[in-house]
Amino acid sequence: MVVARALERGVKGFLIVGYDLESSERAIELAEYLPWSYAAVGIHPHDAKEFKEEDLKVLEEMAAHERVRAIGEIGLDYYRNYSPQEDQRRAFRAQLELAKHLEMPVVLHVRKAFPDVFKILQEVEVTEGVFHCFSGGIQEAQKAVELGFYVSFAGSLTYGSRKLEKALKGISKDRILLETDAPYLAPGDYRGQRNEPAYLVETAQKAAEVLGVTLRDVATWTFQNALRFLALPERETEDTVE
Ligand SMILES: [Zn+2]
Repeated sequence: MVVARALERGVKGFLIVGYDLESSERAIELAEYLPWSYAAVGIHPHDAKEFKEEDLKVLEEMAAHERVRAIGEIGLDYYRNYSPQEDQRRAFRAQLELAKHLEMPVVLHVRKAFPDVFKILQEVEVTEGVFHCFSGGIQEAQKAVELGFYVSFAGSLTYGSRKLEKALKGISKDRILLETDAPYLAPGDYRGQRNEPAYLVETAQKAAEVLGVTLRDVATWTFQNALRFLALPERETEDTVE
């Protein structure tokens, strides 16, 4: 089973992320059921054309659940453009306002849209969250950190992109997160296959290599960063999972 394989390889918890109302609801159900699991609820830029003002009310109700720790994925995707950019900006802004009102961090999906995302974040004054599956360069990574955000690297870090490696090296250790982004972007030897959380270890291994530190260092930092990001209490890395 996917979860058992992840736990066996030392993955200590999960953030299950929604992309529309239905998947957000499912993320909460799964988070309730699994140990050390939390959910993010939100409407993805791909689905922004379906976004309605009433959805904010539903998201707000969902966000009241104790396992919900973030609003996301939200953002702008000018690469795929599955929703008109105008709709994307409208849904993004509205959900940022909600996150600000709820004092919750955001999980940002950004493709080819860094200038607009930075601009809107500053306008709405949202200063807590993560750039998920980071795809920018060192300047964007440093700007994200300057605005108070974490930068999260997925399996694409293992694909040999010097740009991503430089971005990783260019930010402070306490701002780095790692993620699966399953079922996409399987790392290393698993590239092209369906990704799953157990493979996070390959991404962590690559991060350690790029930073010139041990796998254990990367595991400890990113674990502590994840706890801080989700406003969870301190937890020893050695804890056994119940
Ligand atoms: Zn995404």
